[in-house]
Amino acid sequence: MSTEVEGVRCRCGGKLQERASEVEFFGIDFGVKKVESCAECGTEYLSQETMEEVEAEVRKRGLFGLERRGRVSKSGNSLVIRIPQEIVKSMKLKRDLPIIIYPSDKDRLVVEVES
Ligand SMILES: [Zn+2]
Repeated sequence: MSTEVEGVRCRCGGKLQERASEVEFFGIDFGVKKVESCAECGTEYLSQETMEEVEAEVRKRGLFGLERRGRVSKSGNSLVIRIPQEIVKSMKLKRDLPIIIYPSDKDRLVVEVES
């Protein structure tokens, strides 16, 4: 079920519809929240309340500010993505740690540490 949101439009110009969606940030599951999603491009907008909840949790877990910019490099036939030191330390990553890597959408790559 979705309801159209009056007067507000997506940056692409599409109409926004309110609906419930699974919200996830930094691998933290925030459960099902009310989001406004664009009928045209599918972009989801969180309410101020949900944004604050996400921010508080991210801060609590010390994940805030861990995004780093990098560049893909090459080694033999493979492409290499370096993990910045801050993330290595924060996540206690080690050499030979088993990981699962997969694309979660067209410009997002997820690396999960296998537990
Ligand atoms: Zn849109």
